[in-house]
Amino acid sequence: MDQFMQDNVNINIKDLSPGEIEKFVLQNNLQPFRARQIVKWLYKKGAGSFDEMTDLSKDFRDLLEFSFLLKPSLELVEEQVSKDGTKKYLFKLFDGNQIESVLIPDKKRKTLCISSQVGCALGCTFCMTGTVGKIRNLTPSEILDQYMIVNQNNAITNIVFMGMGEPLDNLQNLVKAINTFIDPNCLGLSPKRITVSTSGLVPQIKELGKQVSVNLAVSLNAPRDELRDELMPINKRYPIKELLDASINFPVPNRKFLMFEYVLLKDINDSDSDAHTLGSLLEGIKCKINVIPFNEAYPLPYQSPSWDRVLKFQEILISYKINVRIRKSRGSDILGACGQLTAKYPSKIVKEPPLPEI
Ligand code: SF4
Repeated sequence: MDQFMQDNVNINIKDLSPGEIEKFVLQNNLQPFRARQIVKWLYKKGAGSFDEMTDLSKDFRDLLEFSFLLKPSLELVEEQVSKDGTKKYLFKLFDGNQIESVLIPDKKRKTLCISSQVGCALGCTFCMTGTVGKIRNLTPSEILDQYMIVNQNNAITNIVFMGMGEPLDNLQNLVKAINTFIDPNCLGLSPKRITVSTSGLVPQIKELGKQVSVNLAVSLNAPRDELRDELMPINKRYPIKELLDASINFPVPNRKFLMFEYVLLKDINDSDSDAHTLGSLLEGIKCKINVIPFNEAYPLPYQSPSWDRVLKFQEILISYKINVRIRKSRGSDILGACGQLTAKYPSKIVKEPPLPEI
C-alpha cells in the first residue's frame, strides 16, 4: 500500500478522483468494475452511506467505511434569490469557513458559478473576493458538493469556475474535481460545458492544458501592462504577452473558442484608445470577448461606465472583427454578480496589493 492509501483514513471519498478510487479497488485485489459501482453510488444515486451500496459485498462496504468518510462536505446556510432569478448560495465548510456559489438561469441554460478557494490571494483591485485575501483552498469534495447540492433542485447545464478564488491557484484539486465532473460514471458533464476562468497564472494554464481540455476564460481587463499591473498585480509576474501566448496555445474543446473577460471600469480602462489597443492585441486570435460593465460594490473605488460608453467600446472591438458580447450584470441586487462574492467576510482594501504568494 502506498503512502496515499495508508493516509486515507478520514479522507472524504469524494476527495478521490475516479482514477484514485480504481487504484484503491485494485490494491484490494478487486475487479476494476467495483470502482465504477462506487462512483455511480456516489454521484448518480447520491448515496449518503456505504451501507446503501448494496451491490458491494458487506466485507467491501466495511473496508470502505473503515478507510473513508462519506458525508456532505458543505452545509447550505442561506439561499438568496435576485429579482432577475439569479440565486446565491452561502455554504458553511467543516472548519467554519464559508463560500458562495451563484446559479444563473438564462433561457434553457442554468450555469453554476463555482468557488475554488475561500477568499483569494490575487488581490485584483476591482474584485470583492480579492479584498478578503486567501484563507484556504477548497478540497475536491467541497468543489463537487456545490454542484451536488444545488443540482438537487435545479437541473444545472453548465459550470464556470468564476466564483470565489483563483482556480489555477488550486490546480491539483481543480483537476481532480474536473475529472469527476466529466467522467461518464460520475457526473458526466461534457467538457464543453465547463469553463475555468483565470486571472493569468501562466505556468498553471500550461499545466491545466496538459491535463484536461475544458473552456478557458482569461480575465484580461486591460490592454496595456502598466494598467494591468495596477488592476491585477499578477500581471507584474506574467505580463500580457506571456499570458496571451499561453492562452492561445491552450487546448479548448473542439468548436469552442478561447474567451477573454474585460470588466469595464469608468474612466479607467474604457476609453476609445484602450478599445483600439485591445482590438489590435486580439485581432486575428480565434477568441470571443465578454465585456462586463463593472458591478459597483462598496468599498471598491470604481464606477460603472455609461451604457453609451459600453456600446462604443463594443463597436470599436467589432471593427477589429472580434466576436464581442456585452455580458449583462446578473444578481447584483444580492451581491451575486461577477466580482462581488465575499461569503460575508470583511473586506480589507489594500492600496497597492503585493504580489500574491502562489
Ligand atoms: S478576480 Fe478572481 S483572481 Fe482576481 S481577486 Fe477576484 S477571485 Fe481572485
